[in-house]
Formats: sequence, C-alpha cells, structure tokens
Amino acid sequence: MPIVFGPPPSGVIAVLLWLALVYGLLQLVRGTNRGLRRVRRFHAIPCTRCRYFTGETVLKCPVNPKAALTEQAIGCTDFVGEVD
Ligand code: SF4
Repeated sequence: MPIVFGPPPSGVIAVLLWLALVYGLLQLVRGTNRGLRRVRRFHAIPCTRCRYFTGETVLKCPVNPKAALTEQAIGCTDFVGEVD
C-alpha cells in the first residue's frame, strides 16, 4: 500500500512564509548596512580634496601615484588641502 502525503497544514505554511519574510528583511538590512559602511569608507579617501590630485587618468597624484584614489590614501601623510 503506497504512502500518500496530503497537503501540509496551513499553519505550517504560514510559519514558513513568515520565516522567509523575516529572513529576507534581515538580509536586506544587512546588505544596506554593508553598503553604507563601504560608502563611508570611500568618502574617507581625501584625494579629490588634495592639492596634489591632478584629476588625470594617467597620473592621479605625482606624490603617491599608487595610493591615489584607493583606500591606501586614507590618512595619507602627504595630504595638503586645497587653498580657497
Ligand atoms: S598626496 Fe595623498 S591625499 Fe594627496 S592626492 Fe596623493 S595620495 Fe591622495
């Protein structure tokens, strides 16, 4: 005699749907926080406000060419702010 499974009770489906919804919302919040942290980190790069920044694609900074516009430039000791 074959075993026949009936549809799961609606209470179980409701709990699973709520769990899926809560999980999705948590993932959304985590992703948003991660994105905001990344944006804050990139805004800490001072090169575009530095006097040595050339804006050229070939040589962005003659003082620290490898560090310019990268996370290595955060806290750059050669940073000199623009004079107004
Ligand atoms: S000196 Fe430092 S802060 Fe200024 S552009 Fe070069 S790497 Fe960026």
